[in-house]
Amino acid sequence: MAKRDYYEILGVSKSSSAEEIKKAYRKIAIKYHPDKNPDDPSAEEKFKEAAEAYEVLSSPEKRQRYDQFGHQGVGGGFGGGGGMNMDDIFSQFGDIFGGGSPFESFFGGGGGRGGRAQRRGSNLRIKLKLTLQEIAQGAEKKIKVKRYVACDDCGGNGSKNGASLQNCPVCQGTGQTRKVVNTMLGQMVSTSTCHACHGEGTTISQKCPTCEGEGRVLKEEVISIKVPAGVAEGMQLSMSGKGNAPNRGGIPGDLLILIEEVEDELLKRDGQNIIYELYISFIDAVLGTSLEVPTIEGKVKIKIDPGTQSGKILRLKEKGLREVNGYSKGDQLIYVNVWTPQTLSKEEKNLLNTLKDSENFKPNPGKHDKGFFEKMKEFF
Ligand SMILES: [Zn+2]
Ligand SMILES: [Zn+2]
Repeated sequence: MAKRDYYEILGVSKSSSAEEIKKAYRKIAIKYHPDKNPDDPSAEEKFKEAAEAYEVLSSPEKRQRYDQFGHQGVGGGFGGGGGMNMDDIFSQFGDIFGGGSPFESFFGGGGGRGGRAQRRGSNLRIKLKLTLQEIAQGAEKKIKVKRYVACDDCGGNGSKNGASLQNCPVCQGTGQTRKVVNTMLGQMVSTSTCHACHGEGTTISQKCPTCEGEGRVLKEEVISIKVPAGVAEGMQLSMSGKGNAPNRGGIPGDLLILIEEVEDELLKRDGQNIIYELYISFIDAVLGTSLEVPTIEGKVKIKIDPGTQSGKILRLKEKGLREVNGYSKGDQLIYVNVWTPQTLSKEEKNLLNTLKDSENFKPNPGKHDKGFFEKMKEFF
């Protein structure tokens, strides 16, 4: 299937600014949001297409690759599998709509589409603890969540056996009452939300006994959360529709998942890099050795060259963390610390004393032995 041009999909020009692209996408996402177009599969297609286009054009790096090589340059979008799933798309919204759930305000109060508002349930927030290993590989976590779901016995409308609802007799089902007021300028019609049905337009003759007319029940559910590799403390994932169902029908809210990192005992995280503090003996530093160090993918054997100075930094390429939904991978940096013995036996002391005046043991930092700060400069 031939893919459409990303700029064309968003209706922007090749020279558009990041802000223009964001604005264009926002418009399309709202227009074709599947919750707004439940019976229109083409809307969902357009929604997904726009999300994919935005995913590429919102990243300066990917946009440049796309401009240069076209679709092949950015093949795959999220996760490399081609196309995006809904959860991916919703997790994008954090930066487009500024955190929280973008559609809450859209569908929530007000009822901008004239007459009755589509109700939307509240969002649920949970924290999810992940180890460094889980972050490195990505994880599928199953968690128990207590949330409101639509009542099975009444199909969510709150009436006994799901009997159909009657139009509110006060407002005749419009959800609004109109009042004609006489003013100095003549007669004016004012509308307000119907008090009898709170704007819903319907009433229940007999309440469903299971949910007591609420249309929803509290239920404990096991939800499986797919966490992409490379997430970090404080990031928020979002699963659309996995929050609370609203009273008596409507769209459930979202499940918002806040990522928490469990600190690793040995490996420290620094962005996409992993840092490991290695301590070697003075003897190993002098004579060289080979030893095992932990990495997020298990133990790795490394060589310590003879004459290694304290403060040396070794780099294990691509043993760090992957960029979320990206391609680049960090490294593991090994900081070498030479351990100075703090207690010595008499024999050890004597042995070292015999070497004390040896010329080779006098510090002589030549140009090949860069100081610690020089080395840091090379690395960053
Ligand atoms: Zn019920
Ligand atoms: Zn009414």
